[in-house]
Amino acid sequence: ALRDAKLVSPPDTMPKLRARLFANENPLGIAPSAKEALVKAADSGNRYAWMEFAQLKQLIATDEGIKPANIMMSPGSSDILMAAASHFAKGGGTILTSAMTYDDLLERAQRQGAKIVAVPMTKDYKYDLNAIKAKITPEVKLVYLVNPNNPTGTVVPAADLEAFCREVAPKVPVFLDEAYIDFYEPAERPKLGKLVADGQNVILARTFSKIHGFAGLRLGYAIAQPEMLKTLKPYTNGEFAVSITTLMAGIASYQDKEWQNHCRAENAKARDYTTKALTAMGYEVIPSAANFILFPIRMKTKAFENQMFANGIGIQTRDFNGQPYCRVSVGTMDEMAMFMDGFKKVVG
Ligand code: PLP
Repeated sequence: ALRDAKLVSPPDTMPKLRARLFANENPLGIAPSAKEALVKAADSGNRYAWMEFAQLKQLIATDEGIKPANIMMSPGSSDILMAAASHFAKGGGTILTSAMTYDDLLERAQRQGAKIVAVPMTKDYKYDLNAIKAKITPEVKLVYLVNPNNPTGTVVPAADLEAFCREVAPKVPVFLDEAYIDFYEPAERPKLGKLVADGQNVILARTFSKIHGFAGLRLGYAIAQPEMLKTLKPYTNGEFAVSITTLMAGIASYQDKEWQNHCRAENAKARDYTTKALTAMGYEVIPSAANFILFPIRMKTKAFENQMFANGIGIQTRDFNGQPYCRVSVGTMDEMAMFMDGFKKVVG
């Protein structure tokens, strides 16, 4: 199942792209307030960060209703995913997950000897939580879920996810990858920090790479029990792997709700436009709550991908159960118009 989900990677020599829509980045860039903080932080580049870690952790802890000791910072959330993969693969246990999900953690764990059990999705591309629960055995060392999910963009209702964690986490740790959580409207955003506050063995992974636009600056964090963070830490490079410049920019961005609201609104507008345009062409677009869209295509993945890149449009493709799909990141409205233009040329 994992091999099936493998990304067909962009060509080694990347042609000049008109629209870079293959990595779920923020097309609007970092917040002006973050840029200002970044420039100011340059003056502190000779100093090790101390208080800045405490400051950002306190802001997050207050929002989540947890303690700063429940937070570990990292240069992007990939470090947290990789640390968990290495730890839970040790001794060759099983990692339980869903099909059609983000496979970085799973691939690393598999390479290090873990067995991966990926439960099929429902017909409407959602996690089948009951089927996942039914697969829990003493061999399962970790459950890995992504919400909103990549690459489908689908979500699990917050109440279902919380109930699942309360039932499962006392038996097996649950890793919730919340890379795209910031695309929820604030009022609907699941507040699963409370699971950690309640002592549950849940690991939440967050990143600044998406709505904050920090994919290149690198900032993320884990929320978990302090003992779990202590367990994962030796697999990471430590919090000092985050630079003071990124940290200071992160503190500014985290507090800049106006910029986040702006990016969320622009993303929704461009996503709706693209969804409608593809639907009008007869494509079945999976409703997305994130900054990318997945839909089945009628061409072979590699041929489709090559032709899109040749037209200056960078996208990703996947094969699931023999069906080819296109995953296009949501860019600006102009970029999505270019995507539709390129798509029409390629599919004829
Ligand atoms: N988790 C998911 C679901 C992702 O899609 C990504 C990146 O695209 C990541 C984690 C890792 O991102 P980063 O290391 O930039 O935080």
